[in-house]
Amino acid sequence: MKQTTTQSEALLTRSLRVAPGGVHSPVRGFRGVGGTPRFIREAQGAELTDVDGNRYLDFCMSWGPLLFGHQDPEVAEAVKFALSRGWSYGTAEPYSLELAELITSSIPWAEKVRFVNSGTEAVMSALRVARAATGRNLIVKFDGCYHGHVDSMLVRAGSGLAEMASPDSAGVSPSTAAETIVVPLNDLAALEEAFAKHPRQIAAVIIEPLPANNGLLLQTQEFLEGLAKITRKHGALVFFDEVISGFRVGFGGMAERTGIRPDLVTYGKVIGGGFPVGAYCGTKDLMDLVAPAGPVYQAGTLSANPVAMAAGLAMLKKLKRENPYAKLEKSAARIASALSRPESGVHVQALSSLFWIVLGQIKSRDGVVRAITDIPATQKERFAKGFHHALERGIYLAPSGFEVGFLSTAHSEAMLEQFLSVMKESLAI
Ligand code: PMP
Repeated sequence: MKQTTTQSEALLTRSLRVAPGGVHSPVRGFRGVGGTPRFIREAQGAELTDVDGNRYLDFCMSWGPLLFGHQDPEVAEAVKFALSRGWSYGTAEPYSLELAELITSSIPWAEKVRFVNSGTEAVMSALRVARAATGRNLIVKFDGCYHGHVDSMLVRAGSGLAEMASPDSAGVSPSTAAETIVVPLNDLAALEEAFAKHPRQIAAVIIEPLPANNGLLLQTQEFLEGLAKITRKHGALVFFDEVISGFRVGFGGMAERTGIRPDLVTYGKVIGGGFPVGAYCGTKDLMDLVAPAGPVYQAGTLSANPVAMAAGLAMLKKLKRENPYAKLEKSAARIASALSRPESGVHVQALSSLFWIVLGQIKSRDGVVRAITDIPATQKERFAKGFHHALERGIYLAPSGFEVGFLSTAHSEAMLEQFLSVMKESLAI
């Protein structure tokens, strides 16, 4: 039965008149898969309902914050209580104190925390701290990692290895881009080369320790340990961007899983329970550089908004109490084993509650996609086909072959079964 999408189409037509591309964040526009983005009117548990009344099992889950599903009752209750006391004070308040105490008492490398409103803001601010702390200007980032739309991070590799980067977005000035060096993932020699070419100029090496913005690019323990060692040897800071992985692959994120202690770490998504929260954290010495304690300026009218803080606090308390990680990991592993068919060019890479469907021939020697150059050339086109087939049968995946799938505790056994049976058809396996 063909879905009716008349209402979504009408809203898109209106929206195109008043917003660039009709949306307020690019991937929502369905450019990677074609077709009409669904306008959602309601979400509950693991389900979305669009304005035409179509229902979907949601495997995008607002891109990561909702580890307990939409409208988790504990988060909802905390938010309603906070709302009843006013929703923005612009003063010191106890909600952020309680959340900061919960984080710093559970995560040893987060000795102090500053709350902001998004992952982008967290990264931007922590990069400023890194430069202030080291007196150096250059930052190393990895090709295939996303760190929000900070100018200096919207860059791509320069013409040669370990060269200064060039802008990857219009409007990023070449001089800003030139403060970043882009190196390939899974390649310690390239990182060494960057330090050799720019001695005593690199302030920090930033990485998503679980890169999840260009597919799920699984890094080895050896690579991450080597990265930390090389970075410290050269007097630079190890910066883990855990906006996706923080509180998701374990309470302490990838740093906890790998046992590697970062100097600076950024969080987002889960930390706000679905409300706009980002955070940057680090050692006391680094964080005390931030105003008003120190000389690094950073501020925000709505930072540590009490409603958002209450949501984050309810979310993290529930995560600590329920420790759902083993169960989530089992669900993702089940998806990986049920859908992987190497003979049909279908591989599912999973870690914790994240999964990514790889479509085509993986170019790496060990058969795992670890760097963007390992991604099959057929990824985009094959994903777009499978995506629409699944969408019409009530499965909502993130609308791009380079985005990951997000699981929550609201995805029941029966829902996973339904997902697997649709996806087997959609992927023709
Ligand atoms: N860093 C990482 C690792 C992210 O995944 C994202 C968002 N996907 C960001 C930073 C930016 O976060 P935000 O969208 O909240 O600005």
